[in-house]
Amino acid sequence: MAFIADALSRVKPSATIAVTQKARDLKAQGREVISLSVGEPDFDTPGHICDAAVEAIRRGETRYPPVLGIPPLREAVAKKFKRENGLDYKASDVIVATGGKHILFNAFLATINPGDEVIVPAPYWVSYPEMVAICGGTNVFVDTTMEHGFKLQPEDLERAITPRTKWLVLNSPSNPSGAAYTHDELKKVAEVLLRHPQVHILTDDIYEHLVYGDFKFATIAQVEPGLFERTLTMNGVSKAYAMTGWRIGFAAGPAPLIKAMDMLQGQQTSGACSIAQWAAVAALEGPQDHLAVFRKAFQERRDLVVSMLGQAKYLQCPSPEGAFYVFPSCAEAIGKKTPDGKVIGSDVDFVTSLLEAEGVAVVQGSAFGTGPNFRVSYAASNTLLEDACSKIQRFCASLS
Ligand code: PLP
Repeated sequence: MAFIADALSRVKPSATIAVTQKARDLKAQGREVISLSVGEPDFDTPGHICDAAVEAIRRGETRYPPVLGIPPLREAVAKKFKRENGLDYKASDVIVATGGKHILFNAFLATINPGDEVIVPAPYWVSYPEMVAICGGTNVFVDTTMEHGFKLQPEDLERAITPRTKWLVLNSPSNPSGAAYTHDELKKVAEVLLRHPQVHILTDDIYEHLVYGDFKFATIAQVEPGLFERTLTMNGVSKAYAMTGWRIGFAAGPAPLIKAMDMLQGQQTSGACSIAQWAAVAALEGPQDHLAVFRKAFQERRDLVVSMLGQAKYLQCPSPEGAFYVFPSCAEAIGKKTPDGKVIGSDVDFVTSLLEAEGVAVVQGSAFGTGPNFRVSYAASNTLLEDACSKIQRFCASLS
């Protein structure tokens, strides 16, 4: 009898972690490595949020919190959804969890029966398909293309839907492509969904505030109120408030789903960390000035990286609307050779040879279901990014 559960055989280790480990190994050997593979802002949590956490400790907010979240945070989330997204959720529709990831996992666990299908547009954040697989669901990947800005096309969605489709996962702005849907693009996706009442929508809006230029963020339940009752709108403080380590995510959605997630969470973690929840109240209710600072810095960096990678031989690098990633194609580098004679046969070869030759760590697109591409996280200083992009240019120029 195997000790490790069969369900685990369906799970792949995170490809992003594998690259990070390889970069660490090289560093341990004394090599200089620039890692552009991380998924978190390089800014500190704003001071007033940290102060709120300290005050919460001093006030003695250190006991088990309610499973669904402390009432002030559930209120603050409902207000946030109204203020920023025009969504009429009540505080009782809101659940708080230990990170957005926990929300997503419990939403799948609460709803998926064996054979239920989940539509995941590719490229996708690595965790969605693994979560679906752990829960016994079937992933239905729908490819998007660079020509369509890596956005799901309504006709491709229509073709992928079956009577077993339980969820469509939307993630805008996207990890890994940075692509974000406009109001009109979401409306077209919504028109398809309106015809298929069995499909629920899990919208992961965690990068909502990281959009650039004139781009206006929109979320599907706002764009199409007819989908409100079957949408779980997920968000959190990790990216917009530089709070990845605090582990607070939240969502609002239909009452039976929130009730089921409440039950699961009650048997798992109970409520999320009480202190972090008070910090999240300060994040949502306090000054938002840092957002403009984050956005300005990220936009400058995106433009820098897009421009420098656009000049690299064999690369094509579109400029996405948001998040802190770009997702260039290295298709033209496939079949070329490195100076020491290694053939670049795939995006895995590309990122491995790049790391070995120039000490720059990025993640292969195939880990996110789309290749030959690679993901560059630009959550790093301009100096580091310039250095890294010059090295990528030099690596590309060395291929023949
Ligand atoms: N969703 C996406 C698309 C992400 O990229 C991430 C983190 O990398 C998460 C969710 C998880 O966020 P959290 O830190 O709130 O668990």
